[in-house]
Amino acid sequence: NTEEEQTEDYLFKIVLIGDSAVGKSNLLARFARDEFYPNSKSTIGVEFQTQKVEINGKEVKAQIWDTAGQERFRAVTSAYYRGAVGALLVYDISRRQTFESIGRWLNELQTHSDMNVVTILVGNKSDLKDAREVTTAEGKALAEAQGLFFIETSALDSSNVSSAFETVVREIYNILS
Ligand code: GDP
Ligand code: MG
Repeated sequence: NTEEEQTEDYLFKIVLIGDSAVGKSNLLARFARDEFYPNSKSTIGVEFQTQKVEINGKEVKAQIWDTAGQERFRAVTSAYYRGAVGALLVYDISRRQTFESIGRWLNELQTHSDMNVVTILVGNKSDLKDAREVTTAEGKALAEAQGLFFIETSALDSSNVSSAFETVVREIYNILS
């Protein structure tokens, strides 16, 4: 195998899930293109975007799927989840309701996926400090109880966005390699 052939061996499907307007599309835009949309509509999402990630000096490809807003109608289809090996389960730290939806999303993920999906719980919009409705400790506790990774991010100021995706990719890589 040449080095180039080896990089082709790793393509991980990762899905973004969580309530509408928690920042899923902007997390992907920030990670893949270093862009942010202050007033994004639910339709800006691409179907998926492939992004190279370097893990232990090896290049792996993450195929990251975003919804086109169908989560608003609780109509994310099984095709969306099919073949996923990783998931970012996103809530908005400034809207408690989106944190309370996490259990339902976790259920949906487990129902639709046939394998053990590497999942990270993501508390997004950490820049909105004055509007916080979910503490970091609460996020951590839920993640621990459910066996998930945990991180707080801001797609607006970029903090921890790469780490969130890379944590999932690295863990998948460790499991599969
Ligand atoms: P989605 O429906 O989950 O894909 O959410 P979007 O990515 O479309 O974002 C919904 C709204 O939240 C948009 O107005 C974004 O500009 C805003 N937003 C997304 N991420 C952040 C963030 O980290 N901080 C702040 N302050 N706003 C954000
Ligand atoms: Mg979106």
